[in-house]
Amino acid sequence: MPEKRKKLYEGKAKIVYETEERDKLILEFKDTATAFDGVKKAELEGKGALNNTISSLIFEILERHGVRTHFIRKLSDREMLVWRAERFLVEVVVRNVAAGSVVKRLGFKEGERFKKPLVEFFYKNDELHDPLVCETHIELMNLAPMEALPSMRETALKVNEVLSKLFSDKGIILVDFKLEFGKLPDGNVGIVDEISPDSMRLWDAETGEKLDKDRFRFDLGDLLEGYRKVLERIS
Ligand code: UDP
Repeated sequence: MPEKRKKLYEGKAKIVYETEERDKLILEFKDTATAFDGVKKAELEGKGALNNTISSLIFEILERHGVRTHFIRKLSDREMLVWRAERFLVEVVVRNVAAGSVVKRLGFKEGERFKKPLVEFFYKNDELHDPLVCETHIELMNLAPMEALPSMRETALKVNEVLSKLFSDKGIILVDFKLEFGKLPDGNVGIVDEISPDSMRLWDAETGEKLDKDRFRFDLGDLLEGYRKVLERIS
């Protein structure tokens, strides 16, 4: 069993620990829910375990489909063993249906389905509120290696195909999701961080009920009830 050593970093939703092996880290999922760059915050018992379980399940499915991720295995309720990665400073968002910032920014109507999936890059910076960036920004600001961008986009679209099907088979619409990437110890680029209802929008296909973090952002109902429904349906 890998052991937690030095605490490397504590974020809003996770704590990262070193282990006795240099290339492996332990992610501990916290019970904290945050929104609007941390302005809204709450402790919700069981959230960490739910996100770890959903994220582990999704990483396993992606790996089976040949998508490289930092996931090694789930260690316990709230802990995941992952490869250490040099994280890039961009967030990659894929959208199938308009919601959230794309509605505010470009005037799409919420719920409108795009003709094809929309891929966007954001600068990971809370102080600047994660602004949208183009490839030239990424290059000038050194946010990620330019040679990795085409494969990041391709991977994001592949993840979208796999997850859209996974969810639609269970009566859930994958509206949008966010991915983060980094360079893994073997030199390959892979997906890092988590993939959970904290980082996706998931709508019930029949009722339109929102099953993701928007429940917390906009007080739409018990957050964990939504996450539990997601887990029940995909496991
Ligand atoms: N997202 C995320 N982390 C962020 C920003 C966005 O996980 O820092 C996710 C968000 O939950 C949604 C998708 O990325 O599933 C698109 O988010 P959007 O750009 O619409 O921003 P938001 O409305 O969340 O501010």
